[in-house]
Amino acid sequence: MAEYLASIFGTEKDKVNCSFYFKIGACRHGDRCSRIHNKPTFSQTCLLQNLYVNPQNSAKSADGSHLVANVSDEEMQEHYDNFFEDVFVECEDKYGEIEEMNVCDNLGDHLVGNVYIKFRREEDAERAVNDLNNRWFGGRPVYAELSPVTDFREACCRQYEMGECTRSGFCNFMHLKPISRELRRYLYSQDPGRRIVKDEKTKAEMGDLVSMLHSVKDRFSIDPYDHVNLTKLNKICSYIAYCR
Ligand SMILES: [Zn+2]
Ligand SMILES: [Zn+2]
Repeated sequence: MAEYLASIFGTEKDKVNCSFYFKIGACRHGDRCSRIHNKPTFSQTCLLQNLYVNPQNSAKSADGSHLVANVSDEEMQEHYDNFFEDVFVECEDKYGEIEEMNVCDNLGDHLVGNVYIKFRREEDAERAVNDLNNRWFGGRPVYAELSPVTDFREACCRQYEMGECTRSGFCNFMHLKPISRELRRYLYSQDPGRRIVKDEKTKAEMGDLVSMLHSVKDRFSIDPYDHVNLTKLNKICSYIAYCR
């Protein structure tokens, strides 16, 4: 019996625990749900509820028509990329390494603008939740909580990924809003020096360092068995290659 209960935990067959809360971290019934929302005490994932405000969704006139007709798709993407980068960089610098961050493009109240940040370490997620709950963002208080979601493939709408979701914005599975390819490459790069590269001034200074290094490089030879220094040299070289 215990084994059976474990196998159906959080699935649709489970009449006690809410499968939506378990898989997606949010359910349209909220606190009034007839099934239990098991809030985790430990998790790698921090959920920031309704944090991203899409200007296209918010700027509507009384009859529901968009007021931002002259905002291009490029500008919308840039607005979103800037938001994503700000949140990602600040949270990673403050709380610790982020494995992935996802933002919902859904329109339902329980999912709209939800930001899920999956940290590498559970302690970091916990610190993020405690700290962010005392913060304001864009003139509104931030609502942060630990989320049971760690497998985003399970939480995402498969039809949406194939461009076939008929429920559009009101689907109850995650429709993730993609960031630009450049931002993805920049944020998820394995290079620890990526932040420095961003700054144009630092980039110029790095350029000077590179030419200096090249000019002295040939005057020194490194013992091929000196692994410590060889590793250091390799690191420097890959860093330089990235900066250029
Ligand atoms: Zn529920
Ligand atoms: Zn969908």
